[in-house]
Amino acid sequence: PTRSEITYFGAGPALLPTDVLETAAKALVDYNGTGLGIAEHSHRSELAANIINEAKADLATYLDIPAGEYEVAFMQGGGTGEFSASVYNLVGAWVARQHAAVLKELGEAAEESAVVDALRKKVEAGLKLDYLVTGGWSLKAYQEAVRLLGPEYVNLVADARVENGGKFGKIPDQSTWKLSKDAAFVYYCDNETVDGVEFPEFPQALAPQPDGTGPIVVVDMSSNILSRRVPVKNYSLLFFGAQKNLGSTGVTVAVIKKTLLPPTVSQPSPALMRKLALPIPPIVLQYETIVKNNSLYNTLSIFDVYIAGQVLKKLLRTFPDKVDGQQAIADKKAELIYSALEAHPDAYKIVPDKTVRSRMNICFRVTKSGTIDESEKAFLKEATSIGLTGLKGHRSVGGIRASNYNSIPLEGAEKLAKFINDFTKA
Ligand code: PLP
Repeated sequence: PTRSEITYFGAGPALLPTDVLETAAKALVDYNGTGLGIAEHSHRSELAANIINEAKADLATYLDIPAGEYEVAFMQGGGTGEFSASVYNLVGAWVARQHAAVLKELGEAAEESAVVDALRKKVEAGLKLDYLVTGGWSLKAYQEAVRLLGPEYVNLVADARVENGGKFGKIPDQSTWKLSKDAAFVYYCDNETVDGVEFPEFPQALAPQPDGTGPIVVVDMSSNILSRRVPVKNYSLLFFGAQKNLGSTGVTVAVIKKTLLPPTVSQPSPALMRKLALPIPPIVLQYETIVKNNSLYNTLSIFDVYIAGQVLKKLLRTFPDKVDGQQAIADKKAELIYSALEAHPDAYKIVPDKTVRSRMNICFRVTKSGTIDESEKAFLKEATSIGLTGLKGHRSVGGIRASNYNSIPLEGAEKLAKFINDFTKA
């Protein structure tokens, strides 16, 4: 089929706007009449710096990132790299804060060995990373923290499978969350791509106090960023891979609160971390290094930043009210598809609980006739025959998953809703 004949509902990499790809294809051969393609220009050139700076500014505008309070870093290593980076950097920041407290208690002239002993006690008594596990991706992040630090430092705030028959599909009631006191951070995944579970709003249990204090919150927004308003100021670290709503695979964005970076906090020396038996970040995952170098500590794929930048420019052109405009459409598309499924309870079963249904990844089973397996095979085959592709669920959970990212047009969602309806009659 040709590109115009299909609507691709794959979970990622996802569909990109065709006009952005056409512009990027030209830029790949010749960027702005320079005779060199965008992927051939030096990442140290002025034009590369301009592409980075414009993408950062446009992201800040579109999401209303509070001016002057956050740094935006383009990283490599994907969402998975950020599972590790968040651990390394925020454990470092925690140790740096404890180090300052110990120096205050013992005095600047204290013996180094006394400082290390005091710090070691603080680590043993108080270092905790809090994880909310609500689906496959936050589970992976939790497992990475356990792997890097050891289970004694990692606290499971809640496991959504426990009260849900061993499966993901709900978010445990916030009154049951076991939050640590003064955790180095509390982590959650805003939209679970595999399980179709999305937080309906920022969890109140993690909200800052009126005086501005509160937990250090880390969030993975890989699969729903740019699709709804985000209370950025509630987060210390917000990250997302580009390959769903932002751009092409290859860059990951970290939005980092400046209070976690120099001059407020500097990563402890590697020698100190070794004495405490805590890990130090590989340099490419160290936020302060990446930020200090405006994301150009090492060679960055400027082409991928360029695509992300073009997607942001298109969003800003399309929606004068910025992310709110896109949110209205995203909500409407999800509503269309869920309504079609709900209209046929005999033929479809939506996987997650109604209160936490993802607007981005719509997960359901087809129970129309025969076995589920046969019904789903028939569903996928017929959908594909009319150009609705990429609907197979994640290999770990099966079923059907319609990934309803920003680049799916309203007509695409309408087409799918109509097919969901028609299939029950066939
Ligand atoms: N987090 C979420 C929510 C995801 O959906 C994914 C990938 O699909 C990841 C993290 C991992 O991202 P990556 O494959 O870029 O490492």
